[in-house]
Amino acid sequence: MDVSAGGGGNSLPTTGADGSKRRVCYFYDSEVGNYYYGQGHPMKPHRIRMTHALLAHYGLLDEMQVLKPHPARDRDLCRFHADDYVSFLRSVTPETQQDQIRALKRFNVGEDCPVFDGLYSFCQTYAGGSVGGAVKLNHGHDIAINWAGGLHHAKKCEASGFCYVNDIVLAILELLKYHQRVLYVDIDIHHGDGVEEAFYTTDRVMTVSFHKFGDYFPGTGDIRDVGHSKGKYYSLNVPLDDGIDDESYQSLFKPIMGKVMEIFRPGAVVLQCGADSLSGDRLGCFNLSIKGHAECVRFMRSFNVPVLLLGGGGYTIRNVARCWCYETGVALGHELTDKMPLNEYYEYFGPDYTLHVAPSNMENKNTNRQLDEIRSRLLDNLTKLRHAPSVQFQERPPEAELPEQDEDQENPDERHHADSDVEMNDAKPLEDTGRRSSIQSVRVKRESAETESTDQVERNSLLDSSISREPDDTYKATPSWQPMQKLVARQHQRRRTCQ
Ligand SMILES: [Zn+2]
Repeated sequence: MDVSAGGGGNSLPTTGADGSKRRVCYFYDSEVGNYYYGQGHPMKPHRIRMTHALLAHYGLLDEMQVLKPHPARDRDLCRFHADDYVSFLRSVTPETQQDQIRALKRFNVGEDCPVFDGLYSFCQTYAGGSVGGAVKLNHGHDIAINWAGGLHHAKKCEASGFCYVNDIVLAILELLKYHQRVLYVDIDIHHGDGVEEAFYTTDRVMTVSFHKFGDYFPGTGDIRDVGHSKGKYYSLNVPLDDGIDDESYQSLFKPIMGKVMEIFRPGAVVLQCGADSLSGDRLGCFNLSIKGHAECVRFMRSFNVPVLLLGGGGYTIRNVARCWCYETGVALGHELTDKMPLNEYYEYFGPDYTLHVAPSNMENKNTNRQLDEIRSRLLDNLTKLRHAPSVQFQERPPEAELPEQDEDQENPDERHHADSDVEMNDAKPLEDTGRRSSIQSVRVKRESAETESTDQVERNSLLDSSISREPDDTYKATPSWQPMQKLVARQHQRRRTCQ
């Protein structure tokens, strides 16, 4: 089939040509590579430092604003996570963990998610980068990058799959202060379960996950899981089989994401770029090339909607660094030379010392028939969104703290009072802040006739709110923001809840 179906670019009105420059900021903490999950553990934060070295030697650091993340504070993490879980993460140490056996079990910490030295500051660092990226997008940047983030499995009060705190959920909550709809896209080989679960019952966040499905961690992500209540049809799952190659992957990604952008029309996009979907990953079983993986970045970038690029899985670390370096180039609109520049980790990239690596000759178990079925079913689900119940926008809650900057000047208007949750421009009306290019006018529309008949809409579901979405994309802020704590308490009944 024509893999460009759905558009090689997009059908949305844009503010500039695809080749035009984007304002890009990049979050990096030079300590992040020192965190160590333990001997034999496949998750290696060192890959973030390797990525950074490649960026430096390809000259990309000069092309974007480089920021050191401000560590997320307890109260930042508690916007999604349970207080007792955050307290536990803050206090537990490798030396004292034996005294907290019950808590370790309760919070699923110990095996896949071990206690290691500096665990809490590691969480603060990667979460701080993602939230800081969201703040930057809220204040006019086009693309923000945090390769240390993307830990999509973490739950409200439970670690999972090498993830402790869910920086993605926190970043999306930050984006929701300014954007009535946020799109989450996940190209990690594993299902983005933590993010899906957090927003399963809201229509303000659409989650789309492309993942290996069937006898594979975490086991969720069935095509039949579409969201619940107001969130029905706002979760999309794309189940894939072993050995998927670039052409098969894009034959789903482009038509599906093209249609999602057209129908959902998000104000911001969060793209989790887990690199364990690459060919030859230590834990993965897909057969994507770096260019095939990066095509997802290129495609999402082409819509000229602010994008937060995050890391995620990726366990053959030389290829993770290659991939995220190349994708940073895509974000900046640069095609990087295949011949790798000398760098401090050069020996990792032998014997060829090239940026790209050939995919393998493994069998692609995804037949064209299966791919066609998945595509039509998901596109069909998307047509049901057109008349889905709409929601109202809420009053903007206080700003998160902005990241510290280790390079250029920071806009003083964006500065946050050190120990206060009160932002200087807190009271600023929503329609006066930041980018609002898609919003023509503001007015009230009461939710009424468009309410779905088959699903009772719960008034108190996730982000208890209603954005009116009209063809001209109007909305009205209303003064009843619901804290996330309450929102996540109302997750899908089938889903596991914490004690
Ligand atoms: Zn993964």
